[in-house]
Amino acid sequence: MPLLDIQDRIAKEEARVGRSPGSTKLIAVSKVQPLERVVAVLEQGHRVFGENKVQEAAGKWPDLKERFDNVELHLIGPLQSNKTRQAMALFDVIHSVDRIKLARAIARIAEEEGHCPQLFIQVNTGEEPQKAGILPRDLDGFVSECRDLGLPVIGLMCIPPVEEEPTLHFALLAKMAKRNGLEKLSMGMSSDFERAIAQGATHVRVGSAIFGERDYG
Ligand SMILES: *Cc1c(COP(=O)(O)O)cnc(C)c1O
Repeated sequence: MPLLDIQDRIAKEEARVGRSPGSTKLIAVSKVQPLERVVAVLEQGHRVFGENKVQEAAGKWPDLKERFDNVELHLIGPLQSNKTRQAMALFDVIHSVDRIKLARAIARIAEEEGHCPQLFIQVNTGEEPQKAGILPRDLDGFVSECRDLGLPVIGLMCIPPVEEEPTLHFALLAKMAKRNGLEKLSMGMSSDFERAIAQGATHVRVGSAIFGERDYG
């Protein structure tokens, strides 16, 4: 069973590197997956899921939350400003805070609604022009701006460049989090979650290794 297999691999890596058991949260990334695969994982008792598009998540999770208790939803993809309110209502955690305009919108809506998801700041560790995220050199200033806005920032998130060794990016993210007094690290996907755990990941985002390949056809 893929879910059990991944949980087992996480536990083994935690043990191998001396992390406490259960210190890594497994986010099952269900984007694009057929509903029956998602339901199967819910039926195995898993409750923590990730989606990368607000619209897609809004189309399936309200129903699934009716059927299954205690679902915890994470937004791991880019957030457009005009979807901020909807995202804040649907998601428990947002991993993609990547610009001051978005941070200000979240702060304003949080005040209006009296509620704010937990937040990660996305860092573009590879400084890739096409990729979202705060540049490493701008991070410390951005963290303090978010704190000034009263935002509940709990950690940092990154998506390393595909063609590079991810360990270097994971280590850089861990260093930046520590320097800013942030405890949580969202890093590691199907192909590299063990390496992320070795560098201190507290949240791994695993899709295809649990659900099978995504069919974008
Ligand atoms: C799709 C996605 C994942 C999961 O990718 P897999 O390789 O299928 O594990 C993780 N993080 C983000 C931001 C994603 O968009």
